[in-house]
Amino acid sequence: MNTEASRCLLCKKPKCAIEGCPVHTPIPECMRLYREGRLHEAGAILFRNNPLSAVTSLVCDWKQFCYGHCVLNAKNAPVRWYEIEHEISSAYLFGHSLERHSLEHSYDRVAIVGAGPAGIAAAVWLYQSGAEVTIFDANPRMGGVLRYGIPSFRLDKKFCDAYEKMLLDAGIEFREGVEVGKDVSLEELSAEYDAVLVAAGAERPAQLGIPGEERALQALPFLKNPSAFKLGRKVIVIGGGNVAMDACRTAVRMGAETWVYYRKTFENMPANPLEVKAAKEDGVQFKVFQAPVEVKEGGVVFCDTKNVVPEDGGRVVTKILKGTEHFVECDTLLTAISEKPDPVLTVAAQKYRNVFLAGDFMSGPATVVEAVQSAKTAVENILESL
Ligand SMILES: Cc1cc2nc3c(=O)[nH]c(=O)nc-3n(C[C@H](O)[C@H](O)[C@H](O)COP(=O)(O)OP(=O)(O)OC[C@H]3O[C@@H](n4cnc5c(N)ncnc54)[C@H](O)[C@@H]3O)c2cc1C
Repeated sequence: MNTEASRCLLCKKPKCAIEGCPVHTPIPECMRLYREGRLHEAGAILFRNNPLSAVTSLVCDWKQFCYGHCVLNAKNAPVRWYEIEHEISSAYLFGHSLERHSLEHSYDRVAIVGAGPAGIAAAVWLYQSGAEVTIFDANPRMGGVLRYGIPSFRLDKKFCDAYEKMLLDAGIEFREGVEVGKDVSLEELSAEYDAVLVAAGAERPAQLGIPGEERALQALPFLKNPSAFKLGRKVIVIGGGNVAMDACRTAVRMGAETWVYYRKTFENMPANPLEVKAAKEDGVQFKVFQAPVEVKEGGVVFCDTKNVVPEDGGRVVTKILKGTEHFVECDTLLTAISEKPDPVLTVAAQKYRNVFLAGDFMSGPATVVEAVQSAKTAVENILESL
């Protein structure tokens, strides 16, 4: 990695950090420390800025972020900062103990709903500011999508374990298996705590809105526990995002002949292009310009689609071509078309002055690094309000 680090120009106005990174990672500063062998100092800076950097360096779409903004892009191969960042921040994370940086907020009690990346990052910063933090999560373990969504062939669960251990060792209370809105209300939390951060993600699957949809299996519950499902010989996954890619890559690993059907084309897919490439390499087959119109026993009726550019030059719309209905057999249909935050919790969260929002719950489905950035803003607002 030293050769790679030596290629960095240590730009005074680093586009990789300023424009390319949602959390504005101080890349040149850490790169300089890395070159000098001061890995621990670099790790401390990265952790302070983004406690999840050991994970984001693995799962970020770096072509769109740091790597894609490197000035060397024009003539040479950009610097693979994300690999260096992963080396530094993993070494820092394992065995790291959280410390209080201030006691200013030591009388403030903050509840966090959701132990995903937004909740974990917020817990770290709130703890460091002196606050007494309690995390509530419907799941038994911390990590959110990192533990229960992204498959372990992409993200080793040792990272979730390390964050969980670090927070528990610091004395942060974890109320696992508690669903806020059912087991305890947001109203109760708002009354009991000085501030509440809702970082409950976006787990409600969007519906296809077609007949027979109830025959389909949602990708998120499947990804949470794939071995609980019998997929059969042939699987069709509908969708073109990260969830669809993880679902098809998991299905193909379970021995199924796996197809992804998508209503637009490859360039329109919201998934990280590297994930689409990896899925193809895994043996997943793709059919684009296909929209499902009915789910039947033993398969799906699809129609062909086409992208139409409006005459006024507006946004491209994808139109279903009538009369092109065709039945495609499959044993399991997995849908991964989008997710939304819990609407009931969303309405409840707007009622209380001391309730703040972060992560996918606030933005809708986004990325880990964006969840961390939104948690940073939420923590600043919470600390100001206290
Ligand atoms: C399959 C999949 C693959 C992805 N791949 C990538 C990727 O490669 N790169 C990337 O950057 N992003 C990826 N993403 C997106 C990324 O994981 C999310 O943007 C990120 O996890 C959002 O973090 P969060 O903390 O807001 O929410 P989450 O990670 O969803 O965590 C929310 C937590 O809140 C808990 N919760 C929900 N409701 C309640 C309740 N009522 N009471 C108590 N607890 C509750 C949940 O149990 C969960 O633990 C992927 C997402 C999925 C689903």
